[in-house]
Amino acid sequence: MKFYNLNYRKENINFNQALKKGLGKNQGLFFPMNLPKLNNKIIKDLLNLNFIDRSNYIISLFLDEKEILSNDLKLQITKAFNFPLLLNLIDKNIACLELFHGPTLAFKDFGVRFMAQILNFFNRKKKIIILTATSGDTGAAVAHAFYKIKNIKVVILYPYKKISILQEKLFCTLGNNINTIAIKGNFDDCQRLIKQVFQDKELTKLLYLNSANSINISRVIAQICYYFEAFAQIPLNQKEKKIIFSVPSGNFGNLTAGLIAKTIGLPIYKFIAATNINDTIPRYLNKGYWQPKKTISTLSNAMDVSIPNNWPRIIEIFNKNNWNLNKLESCSITDEQTTRTTINVFNKYKYILEPHTAVSFCALEKQILKKDTFNVFLGTAHPAKFQNYIYKILHKKIILPKILINCIKKKNLSYILSNNFSDLKNFLIKNYVI
Ligand SMILES: *Cc1c(COP(=O)(O)O)cnc(C)c1O
Repeated sequence: MKFYNLNYRKENINFNQALKKGLGKNQGLFFPMNLPKLNNKIIKDLLNLNFIDRSNYIISLFLDEKEILSNDLKLQITKAFNFPLLLNLIDKNIACLELFHGPTLAFKDFGVRFMAQILNFFNRKKKIIILTATSGDTGAAVAHAFYKIKNIKVVILYPYKKISILQEKLFCTLGNNINTIAIKGNFDDCQRLIKQVFQDKELTKLLYLNSANSINISRVIAQICYYFEAFAQIPLNQKEKKIIFSVPSGNFGNLTAGLIAKTIGLPIYKFIAATNINDTIPRYLNKGYWQPKKTISTLSNAMDVSIPNNWPRIIEIFNKNNWNLNKLESCSITDEQTTRTTINVFNKYKYILEPHTAVSFCALEKQILKKDTFNVFLGTAHPAKFQNYIYKILHKKIILPKILINCIKKKNLSYILSNNFSDLKNFLIKNYVI
């Protein structure tokens, strides 16, 4: 399949190129040329397959056999999706799709691990440098996904002393092909530095750079697969109900994947786009005007985004399907509501929510009262990542998963640099130019 650029529709490239380019001309996102429609019989058969075989079928809709043979693709998927995925029923018609059992305990493992494996497969001996900035979760997912992959080096920038020790240990202790740099500045400085690197003629000539960020089409395609798995795990006696998904959203990559799953035939009745008080999208959908505000810090910090970078893809999906945007329900949740939801859900169901997942649950509350619905809220991070918060409000100690315990003991290997571009440039030339 070909992919076209949403800002320059004449630019058509195949998957392999879209994967390596990330963004096209005029900063445009890539989008699949035609979204196939699977009939009910095929969907039914697909739901009977295991997760890996089904994911292989779904992803192969977007890649040509000429680019990668089915068996090779299956091998990459098997390496990427090597952790459990669970639809955890907390009541008859409510379930959490737990996407947080991967190596860095957040749903980003799905997209980034697939990207790492497929990039490795398509790479022909070039030395690729993955350069990315993180305020927490993405850095960990990227570091673990690319760890020890041949011919790929990873450089991750993050703001010095501005992320939690636990978060820092999760990706700054790996070593090998993973280099981490603490920048004396804030997250915006890190993002600015990355932009400057990608615009620097000398560096882009010397180094073969890729950013692995959330606009990469490979990450979105990988995420389609878990919506199908959720369906496969819905209990038999709930399957005929209206299936509703609540998606905690920041850059809207997760929701983009869900809408593509629906477009190709998965019978999802409705989506709810749940945001924190960074509510550009809920205000846009409810009031009709586009007016991003300054980004505000919240408990669900991975969703502190006021200009969601996948939004143009969502508009494209609605246009192509002739769906009206008012079919998309959306809802903005405050930190008070997030905390109240965490407390209520624990008291009522004995289930522990971290803040992002609490946002997705809270946005569902009106739906779960309806008997003819089955409601899935996406769980995007493991509660153990928010130990202190959960102890504070629920007085519960969470046992840390092994991966976190192991990292805490290890030494932080980060370099520390100023927020001057010239310092970073010298560092890159000194360490990566061969
Ligand atoms: C990134 C992230 C989100 C938001 O996902 P998008 O695809 O950017 O909308 C939600 N929860 C957690 C824990 C995340 O890390």
